[in-house]
Order: sequence, then structure tokens, then C-alpha cells
Amino acid sequence: MKKKHVPVRTCIGCRETSAKRALIRIVRTPTGEVLVDPTGKKSGRGAYVCPSSECLKAGIVEKRLEQALKCQLGPGDVESLLYQLAQMLSARKEQP
Ligand SMILES: [Zn+2]
Repeated sequence: MKKKHVPVRTCIGCRETSAKRALIRIVRTPTGEVLVDPTGKKSGRGAYVCPSSECLKAGIVEKRLEQALKCQLGPGDVESLLYQLAQMLSARKEQP
């Protein structure tokens, strides 16, 4: 039996690999905005993180998010990413 191929990505925070679908994509759009990408389909350079603000923070503090996106993040970007992730996680929790 051949194993079904599942796309795998590495979390920028804990560096664990997980199925791409289980991770949250962060994208730097062609216009230079850095956003959480809930659809995973926005164009731009992407990075992946576990659905955990701890992992996102670690990725930011250890500069792995900047490396992955090849850009520098300002304090405003960091704040808005953490906010967007928190919103996303709380929205998920509210789903039955
Ligand atoms: Zn992680």
C-alpha cells in the first residue's frame, strides 16, 4: 500500500512538522502586508505556524518568521499578526 501524500510544513515556532492543513499560513502579500491567511490561498510568500500564539510569538522572537518571509516586521505587524491569530483561534473554538 502506498502512503497517501500529505503536504507537510514546518512550524516557524516549534519547528515541528505537521500536515499543511493543520497549520496556519502567514503571508506577505505582493504589496508588503503581512497577514494571517485563513484560506491558505493568498498569493505571496508564506510561512506556517501551529494554531498557537506561543508558536507565533516564538517564530517572531527568534526571527524565523522574518527569515521565512524575507522581510522585516515592524511592531505594528507583530501586534496585528498576534491579534489576527487570536481572533482566528477564538472563532474556531466557538464552532460546535
Ligand atoms: Zn509550532
